[in-house]
Amino acid sequence: MFENLSDRLSGVLEKLTRQGALTEEDVATALREVRVALLEADVSLPVARDFVKSVQEKATGQAVTKSVSPGQQVIKIVHDALIQTLAGDDANAGELKVSSPPAPILMVGLQGSGKTTTTAKLAKRLTDRNKKRVLMASLDTRRPAAMEQLAVLGMQIGVDTLPIVAGQTPVQIAKRAKQQATLGGYDVYMLDTAGRLSIDDELMDEVAAVRDEAKPHETLLVVDGLTGQDAVYTAENFNTRVGISGVVLTRMDGDGRGGAALSMRAVTGKPIKFVGLGEKMDAIEEFHPERIAGRILG
Ligand code: GDP
Repeated sequence: MFENLSDRLSGVLEKLTRQGALTEEDVATALREVRVALLEADVSLPVARDFVKSVQEKATGQAVTKSVSPGQQVIKIVHDALIQTLAGDDANAGELKVSSPPAPILMVGLQGSGKTTTTAKLAKRLTDRNKKRVLMASLDTRRPAAMEQLAVLGMQIGVDTLPIVAGQTPVQIAKRAKQQATLGGYDVYMLDTAGRLSIDDELMDEVAAVRDEAKPHETLLVVDGLTGQDAVYTAENFNTRVGISGVVLTRMDGDGRGGAALSMRAVTGKPIKFVGLGEKMDAIEEFHPERIAGRILG
C-alpha cells in the first residue's frame, strides 16, 4: 500500500520536540520525505530540488506552535509552498482574453493530447458561461479525420465550424477563419492546429506561421497530464518556439499524481488555466492549485 506523504511526515516527525523552533535537522529529515514524494509524483529532479531548498529556508527556525504537531506544521508549509509554485501570481486561472472581437485563440499541442476535444470544450464554455459567439476552425490539413472530428463536435455542442475547403494551407485557413469571424460577427474564433506524435521542426514552423498570421490573444498549449516529464519537455519546447500564454492539462480525471503540473509551471513560468476531467464536453474546469497540491501531498 502506498503510504501518503502526510502520514509519512507525521511518522518521521512525531518524535520531535513540541517546543522551541523547527531545527535545520528536523526540517531536513522531513524534506527528504518530501523530495521522494515529489519524485514519485513525477516532478522533475531540478524542480523538486529547488522546491525543497526554498521550503528548507522557509521552515528552518519557525517556532513550533502548541496546537499542531511539528509534522503537521511542516506539511502546512509544504502545502502552502506547493500552491505558491503552482499558482504564481495569477488571480484567475480560468479567464481568457476574449474582450476584443473577433478574438483569436490558438490551440497547440501534440497529437492525442486532447487538443480537438479541448477546443470544443472551451468553445462550449465560452458560449454557455461567457455568452460569446464562437467559431471553430481545424487547421489539421494532413488529417481530414481531425477536421471532421471538430465539425462533428461543433454540431454536437451547437458551435459553428469553418466550412472545410480542400487544398488550403493552415495559414490560408487561419485567414479565412478571421474573415468569416469578422463578417459573421463572432466574438471569438478558435484555431485548432495540427498535432504530431512528437515535437518536430516542421510542426513548430507551421504553428509559428499560423501564429504570425493570426496574432492570437491566447495561445493555449494542450498537454496530457498523465505523461509526466514528457509533458514538461513538450511545454518547454512549445513555449520557446511558439510562445504560449497558458496550459490546459488534460486527463486529470486519471490517476496521475499531479507532478507534471508543478514542473510545468516552474519550468515555463506560464499559468495552467484549465484542466480536462473526462471525455464529455463539459468535463473541463479552471485550474485549482489546491487540488493538485492535495494530490501531490496525498
Ligand atoms: P488530439 O489528437 O490532441 O486532438 O486529441 P483528441 O481531442 O482527439 O483526444 C484524444 C482522446 O482523448 C479522445 O478519445 C478524447 O475523448 C480523450 N480526452 C481528451 N481530453 C480528455 C480528458 O481530459 N480526460 C479523458 N479521460 N480523456 C480525454
